[in-house]
Amino acid sequence: MPGIIVRQVGLLPHHREPYDIRATYRQFMGERSWATNAATRRAMQGNRSRDTKPELLLRRQLHAMGLRYRVCTRPIPEVRHRADIVFRPARVAVEVRGCFWHGCPAHHRAPAANSEYWRKKVERNMARDRETETRLADAGWTVVVVWEHEPVEAAAARIAAEVRLRRKGG
Ligand SMILES: [Zn+2]
Repeated sequence: MPGIIVRQVGLLPHHREPYDIRATYRQFMGERSWATNAATRRAMQGNRSRDTKPELLLRRQLHAMGLRYRVCTRPIPEVRHRADIVFRPARVAVEVRGCFWHGCPAHHRAPAANSEYWRKKVERNMARDRETETRLADAGWTVVVVWEHEPVEAAAARIAAEVRLRRKGG
């Protein structure tokens, strides 16, 4: 898939439901390290990657709560954007955002070196985030944004409440 290095090099499995989060988590945390190569690590840090640790923890929590979902898939087929966690029947899309890359108001600090470069990069990400939110909302989706700094239980509870509400046709 264009722009997603992780997929191009095939380091992580593609997931289908039913999804076994524990297996993926073991693989993620296990000895078979998939990001030991410095170039790969740099590429991943600079790209929108999937299966980051906050995403895995959140997915594990949602799964434990009995929720089922799709991972890294397009909420709207015609729109190229992939959401991190998708509840299709409820039309709820979850975006897990890293505090640095997405300009968290509480934690983002521009690095001292190359600050202009980083500022522009993060601003582009934030503009894209706004655009994504608008497109999904226009198509009748609810977007739940989760910051990596959020306690996982609180984020999962927020998502579960939204999914329940939307299932009832709210
Ligand atoms: Zn933050």
